[in-house]
Amino acid sequence: MAFDVDLFVIGGGSGGVRAARIAAEAGARVALAEESRMGGTCVIRGCVPKKLMVFASAFPDAMEDARAYGWGAEVGAFDWPAFRGKLHAELARLEGVYRANLTRAGVAIHDARASVADPHTVRLADGTEISAAHILVATGGRPFIPEPFAALRDQGHPVLVSDDIFDLEALPRSILILGGGYIGCEFASILHGLGVEVTQLVRGAQILRGFDEEARGHLADSLIARGIDLHCGTDLLALEPSEGGLRAKSTDGRERVVEAVLFATGRVPNSDGLGLAEQGVTIGRRGEVVVDDWSQTGVPSIYAIGDVTDRIALTPVAIREGHAFADTVFGAKPTRADHDLVASAVFTRPELGSVGLTEEEARARGPIEVYATSFRAMHQAFAGRSERVMMKLIVDADSRRVVGCHIIADGAGEMIQLAAIALKMGATKEDFDRTVAVHPTMAEELVTLRTPVRRG
Ligand code: NDP
Repeated sequence: MAFDVDLFVIGGGSGGVRAARIAAEAGARVALAEESRMGGTCVIRGCVPKKLMVFASAFPDAMEDARAYGWGAEVGAFDWPAFRGKLHAELARLEGVYRANLTRAGVAIHDARASVADPHTVRLADGTEISAAHILVATGGRPFIPEPFAALRDQGHPVLVSDDIFDLEALPRSILILGGGYIGCEFASILHGLGVEVTQLVRGAQILRGFDEEARGHLADSLIARGIDLHCGTDLLALEPSEGGLRAKSTDGRERVVEAVLFATGRVPNSDGLGLAEQGVTIGRRGEVVVDDWSQTGVPSIYAIGDVTDRIALTPVAIREGHAFADTVFGAKPTRADHDLVASAVFTRPELGSVGLTEEEARARGPIEVYATSFRAMHQAFAGRSERVMMKLIVDADSRRVVGCHIIADGAGEMIQLAAIALKMGATKEDFDRTVAVHPTMAEELVTLRTPVRRG
């Protein structure tokens, strides 16, 4: 049977765009539908604007440090509208680049919502139907506000999700952030750096569930020392409109009036309303599209990649999944996306970079050695700051392989990328040891850790 296209991609985020481009370059006839802006979460309302805000938020501290280094420097006031204008201009530029790359590759773009009408047909919002040999669902995810608080947002109260931050008319003077994951911690740091009074509530005993325990504790201490009013083991009980914003009652019995509340309580896959279950695609308990190692659903012509599959919700992972899909189906190069040893960074200040196993995970698998150090970085110590860097290597005692690396430092995101190469290559502790240090740097500590602090 002749189809209109070989591939129809639903979703123009990082993963969908990569898959569409690689498939088209392999000779496939490809169409892509995006209901919002090309580039998806990462480019439009995630990684990119977030990182630019991280940069913006660092200047007050940089000016303080400049004075410690002998400069006469004052940071002055932060002009949010001026920054926001530049930010959106940059996002529009990047959106244009994504669009141009797709067009150059020969992908037909439909600026419309699309759903699956049958295993080989996509229906656009205007009713147009396009038949496709393969359909790729790359619709990402969206922030989630727990009940009963979503209703307040619908009524127009300053109940925000991360998407909203980039469009604020004005920065609030105070904010309550709920959640201790990547987004809660990153926005706590960013907004604090921009001069907002930040209170962060985390229902669990510590921030950043899933990360190395020692790193979680170290980072939480640093965030508190920087001025974030962080309360772990504390949940939000009630929220009500109040003069000047919202009155928040928390489980520790406290009440606060804040100008805004940011729900950073996780994200859910965008799998609803796509007609997937109706076609026999399995949707999991969290709303995720269930796929196998090849990103194929139970309906052979329908694949899914990225956050909608809720595997590892990171842009570079979605890109790899999209690329692997296109190589497999259109490039005659069967490739499974590799989800092992994926490094990531939490862009707090200081940053947390992490790859491989936590100490707790590694210990559960067998005997380990833990090498760790905590020290004041040269740059910071000279500026009179007491913040401490943390570096930690987890070593499998039998194979000697370094199975985990955790770094808390300015620039940890950059460092962990390189450490991840070593871990991916299977480097042993002795490989780290015989690598000569780059001096004076923070990262040199990774190759000069001589004695285990713990064995287990
Ligand atoms: P996370 O799942 O990482 O964190 C959600 C937080 O909200 C947790 O502290 C969680 O607590 C808490 N929470 C969840 N539900 C409730 C509730 N009903 N009431 C109170 N607290 C609640 O989600 P994020 O939104 O921070 O990020 C989503 C994903 O996006 C990340 O996991 C990551 O994969 C990706 N991301 C990556 C970034 C990066 O690479 N730098 C940056 C931003 C996002 P508990 O732990 O107890 O469940």
